[in-house]
Amino acid sequence: MSESYDVIVIGSGAGGGTLAQAVARAGKRVLLLERGRRFPDVSLPHDERAMLIQKQPYDDRDIDVNGNPTRLYMGGVLGGGTSLYGAALMRPSREDFHPGIHYGDRLEKAIHDWPIDYEDLAPYYERAEQLYHVSGEPSDHYGPLQRPTESYPHSPIPLKPINERLVSGNENAGLKPFVLPLGIDFNICLQCDACPGYICPNGARISAGQVVDAAAQETGSLELKTGIQVERLERSGETVTGVRVTDRESGEQTVLTAKRYVLAAGAIGSPAILLQSGCRHPLIGRNYMMHLSPIVVGLYLKRTGAESTFVKQVGFADHYYGTEDYPHKLGLVQSLPVPGPLMIAKTAPAWLPRAAIDGLRKRMLPLAGIIEDLPNPDNRVTVDEAGRIHLSHRYSEYDFERGQFLTQQMVQILKRGGAAHCLTKSFPSTEHVAHQCGTLRFGTDRDHAVADRNGRLFDHPEVFVADGSLFPTSLGVGPALTIMANALRIADTVIDEL
Ligand SMILES: Cc1cc2nc3c(=O)[nH]c(=O)nc-3n(C[C@H](O)[C@H](O)[C@H](O)COP(=O)(O)OP(=O)(O)OC[C@H]3O[C@@H](n4cnc5c(N)ncnc54)[C@H](O)[C@@H]3O)c2cc1C
Repeated sequence: MSESYDVIVIGSGAGGGTLAQAVARAGKRVLLLERGRRFPDVSLPHDERAMLIQKQPYDDRDIDVNGNPTRLYMGGVLGGGTSLYGAALMRPSREDFHPGIHYGDRLEKAIHDWPIDYEDLAPYYERAEQLYHVSGEPSDHYGPLQRPTESYPHSPIPLKPINERLVSGNENAGLKPFVLPLGIDFNICLQCDACPGYICPNGARISAGQVVDAAAQETGSLELKTGIQVERLERSGETVTGVRVTDRESGEQTVLTAKRYVLAAGAIGSPAILLQSGCRHPLIGRNYMMHLSPIVVGLYLKRTGAESTFVKQVGFADHYYGTEDYPHKLGLVQSLPVPGPLMIAKTAPAWLPRAAIDGLRKRMLPLAGIIEDLPNPDNRVTVDEAGRIHLSHRYSEYDFERGQFLTQQMVQILKRGGAAHCLTKSFPSTEHVAHQCGTLRFGTDRDHAVADRNGRLFDHPEVFVADGSLFPTSLGVGPALTIMANALRIADTVIDEL
């Protein structure tokens, strides 16, 4: 047994890192345990092979996905997903917290409403936007999406010419594109073409790792241990008495103890730890969601310039709730960077020569859609006797149908922005699990949720959850800002209790 802390936080990503810094700033003794390491080599950030083919900063476990061992694009370094993400930090719509409004019979009654409203999170969104240095355009319209009451903490950079064309072409057709709010410090941003998926070379894209480092320095009460894998929670009956960890370098195992424990190992990692601990709640690991993300690539007759600079700048919420003819909730459409040549080669026909790929890259502008995939208890995380994580996942016909509809809207958006032709990607990837959520959902009662509205496990009151696992539904925007805001809210409960 080692010394005791007020709180042990497991996982340093959007949820864990954000909560740990808040609890430490309130004067509590926090130990933050992270399985990954600090990303070591600053010479690698723009190396596509190291980052995206060898997946060096991603979780190094082989997860069994629908029976196939797979290395997932899932953050595996200090800062978790936020060390690699696109930092599009969007507030959702008010109705995102009341999914029953849009999905009626398609969802069980117990999750027609989240256990919290937008208003419960509003002050915490404000704090998260400050913490992660969000730059947004105060005069833009976000349709049904929420925004700060005053202004964003920082201003964005001007649109790149190809994005100006995208915006004006669509404004002329009556759409209301907006500048994506991004957690990026544009005073120092290098505006790289390779952004999401890569480690930021100079820390301009703010990660939970940076937020944690700053709090550790300022408070002296946050201790961070990287390269430490939490194996399971130690229990005496239903009471959790410690966490059993392995130092991944030495192989040594220890049990660490605290007054409270916070699980924030991500929506695949957190349920895996509870299952390894023998926790029996029947919903642990179920209802895994990850968004359905159709991608449409606009091909232009002339060079777009998008392959050599930062273009993740524009969002469209015009189809968030569908259209008059197709009144189904869909989600956000947002810019994507031009993929690197190796990632294009991964999906392109083998006969396509490198010169052709390079030529295409110069004439591209991609968009991604975010379809709010619906929860299904059969989509789940399990752990076998050897401790290996399994992930079973299938999208529903309804998810695919909405994905196809949004794809057609995205084709129109790109054509209005000058694209001569569009390529659509119809088969979703099993490796890209960036928006994973839902596997330890929170709610008002134990029969329908694993945790209560404050993230506390119904079965083990000394344990809180603070990551994307809590989401009952997946929202129509990226999850990161809501995970951060909710982690700050849960931190307040933990602090009060201590
Ligand atoms: C390439 C990419 C682009 C993205 N772009 C966006 C975007 O633009 N906007 C947006 O909203 N979201 C985006 N996301 C998603 C966003 O990063 C995640 O939603 C968010 O980071 C999830 O937060 P989390 O706390 O649930 O988990 P994570 O941030 O994944 O953190 C979990 C942490 O727990 C650690 N861990 C796991 N198991 C253990 C264990 N047993 N012991 C100890 N530690 C463990 C992991 O190593 C990891 O560091 C993106 C993600 C990626 C990968």
